[in-house]
Amino acid sequence: MPHRTNEDNQRDSMEEKELYKSMKNNKKSKVDLGNKCVHCKKDTSLGSGRFVNRYPVFGLDIDGSGIEYDGYCCDKCEQEYYKDNPEIDD
Ligand SMILES: [Zn+2]
Repeated sequence: MPHRTNEDNQRDSMEEKELYKSMKNNKKSKVDLGNKCVHCKKDTSLGSGRFVNRYPVFGLDIDGSGIEYDGYCCDKCEQEYYKDNPEIDD
């Protein structure tokens, strides 16, 4: 293990500050999926078979990666969701 100097520690804390600053300043990445379902990524436009009962979704962070998706949620995924989370259904 190399001996850490005060200089090393100072540099590390400066890097942390820079990182924090860029996290605060950077807008989250946004992906516009248009007519696509944010979950199954399938087309929900009129005539696709998934148009009925779709609803628009804005800024959904699907996997917690910080990337937000705009698009739609199709009825199929909606039903799947309620199937997996029956306690939410009221
Ligand atoms: Zn879907």
